[in-house]
Amino acid sequence: MIKTNIIVLEAMVIIKKEIDAITDDDFTEFLKKENKYDDYLNHILHCIKCGKIITGDNIAAIVYKENEYKFICDNQNCLEDIQGGI
Ligand SMILES: [Zn+2]
Repeated sequence: MIKTNIIVLEAMVIIKKEIDAITDDDFTEFLKKENKYDDYLNHILHCIKCGKIITGDNIAAIVYKENEYKFICDNQNCLEDIQGGI
């Protein structure tokens, strides 16, 4: 559990630092690098909290957990949830 919390906190730091700087191009590059771009185009990427389809407009956070990236939408409830752990 401690390990999980550390990962989440590290992810939150990255998000807070880069949230204003994330552009559609950056997000697209990230997805391509992680082989998630096809999933994104096919609307397979969902917010792990509310299930909403992740787009370039609503992506708010990316958390690395269990050897894969999880996506969080910009819904305030979803963002508040990940601050307490996933
Ligand atoms: Zn959500």
